[in-house]
Amino acid sequence: MTGESPKTVTNFGRNIRFAAAALCRPRSEAEVLRILEAHRDGTVRVVGAGHSWNGGIESPDALLDLRHMRRVRLHEDRARVTVGAGCRIGDLLAHLERNGLTLPSIGLIDRQTLAGAVATATHGSGGHSMSHYVDALRIACYGPGGAAVVRTVDSAGPGIAGRHDPDLVLRAARCAVGALGVVLELTLRCVPQYYVRERCVWVGDLDEALEREPGAPLQQFYLIPHSWEYLVHDRRVAASGRRTGAAALYRVYWLVVIDVLLHLGIKLTASLLRSRRLVHLLYRRLLRLFIVPGWRVTDRSDRQLLMRHDLFRHLEMEMFVRRAHLAEALEFVTEILRAADDAAYEVSPEVWIHIEQTAMQPAFDELRGTCVHHYPICVRRVLPDGTLISMSSCHGTEVEDWYAISLITYTEPREPFERVARLIATVLARAHGARLHWGKWFPLGGSDVERMYPGLPSFRQVRDDFDPGGVFRNAFLKDHLAGADER
Ligand SMILES: Cc1cc2nc3c(=O)[nH]c(=O)nc-3n(C[C@H](O)[C@H](O)[C@H](O)COP(=O)(O)OP(=O)(O)OC[C@H]3O[C@@H](n4cnc5c(N)ncnc54)[C@H](O)[C@@H]3O)c2cc1C
Repeated sequence: MTGESPKTVTNFGRNIRFAAAALCRPRSEAEVLRILEAHRDGTVRVVGAGHSWNGGIESPDALLDLRHMRRVRLHEDRARVTVGAGCRIGDLLAHLERNGLTLPSIGLIDRQTLAGAVATATHGSGGHSMSHYVDALRIACYGPGGAAVVRTVDSAGPGIAGRHDPDLVLRAARCAVGALGVVLELTLRCVPQYYVRERCVWVGDLDEALEREPGAPLQQFYLIPHSWEYLVHDRRVAASGRRTGAAALYRVYWLVVIDVLLHLGIKLTASLLRSRRLVHLLYRRLLRLFIVPGWRVTDRSDRQLLMRHDLFRHLEMEMFVRRAHLAEALEFVTEILRAADDAAYEVSPEVWIHIEQTAMQPAFDELRGTCVHHYPICVRRVLPDGTLISMSSCHGTEVEDWYAISLITYTEPREPFERVARLIATVLARAHGARLHWGKWFPLGGSDVERMYPGLPSFRQVRDDFDPGGVFRNAFLKDHLAGADER
């Protein structure tokens, strides 16, 4: 997040830019309450590190930045840590590491704030979202009479005025996209530090990638555009808590070769030269030269699971599908990307049926031959979690794992990519029950979101108790979280 003037805010992906009338950096809960009192007739939103790609942070009125509220307190049981909302994940990990501990789940980078990451159910691969591990929150919001108050939410609490059971309120607050108010601090579970063993393996198809999962539960894999093979990042918890000799070298290799050189190659071919042939060459021939298959290393969990994926600005959309829909979803993604790449490409009859059934023929005709996809499609398994509206929230007796499929662009203008991504999101949401990540580009609204998130009606009941006047509802929240009567 950058502030060009004290009040102009631009997010990491540079697709969100707005002017807030008041950019506030409070240092205490009392100061937050004073800001809420002063803006009770306007709009209040919070910005973390500004790493999400949607309008969740936008506020024409007050925008809070909690960078000064980042105190970390480890509990005596060493199983929980309470952290100020503005603390960055990397700073918390460093604190925990000094105590031989870590977080049970992290994403690809550690630059986000804890409150921002939790608000959007940030996830890695093979575990639950970070939201799942939140045991308690302190939230500044509005009480029944409209006065600004601080509420503690945890499973042992009183619920709200006896109307909602505490567990429901906690499930709502764990992933709330800032709809319940200003999260001041969070209590998260932590675990003893662990080590991860990793290597890269090329496989021919999805079945082969999935077959590896029981042996490598933390794995993530990539569908490689234009060769349409799979590269598996085989990851498992290591039996020994020791770094192997080559791990330091592997870190340097990953940073220099993958995070920098490969990404420069992508920027050069796709963004600067805009050459379809060179992008094809990169993925069909050159990528294999960047990967050292079979190089097996063991390192500390945070070192192994994090990348410098934030070195180059990009735009990302991520869709979650249940395991039963994964094969069809990836088939659909592949076929659409091939048609977007080559106007003469004929999609399969199964894919065409879905396009017709969702009335997307005009959108499909418009994108044919207009967009060369130029980034590996990362697929990560996320376990069902104890929230109301996260992407992997589960309802009733459902316990199926979810798979996050990510689409990224490094080119600008972004409209060609956005057309492709919007069509894929629409069809996967309507035909395969896909859900969109709350922290990423989110091109669908209204009834599509209502279908994606069956927990929304219960979520809204809790939200109304925290925000009776709609102060925390900006345009993004009205479009995506509000009921039909409120839009
Ligand atoms: C390079 C990069 C890599 C990423 N990798 C992953 C990944 O591996 N896995 C994954 O799931 N996601 C990933 N993300 C997405 C990222 O984790 C989410 O967008 C996350 O929300 C960003 O945190 P932030 O601190 O920047 O929050 P922001 O983007 O600033 O805010 C996100 C939302 O949270 C709200 N919010 C923030 N703080 C508070 C608060 N204190 N109280 C109430 N509401 C608040 C905001 O209003 C907004 O709605 C990545 C993003 C980038 C740019």
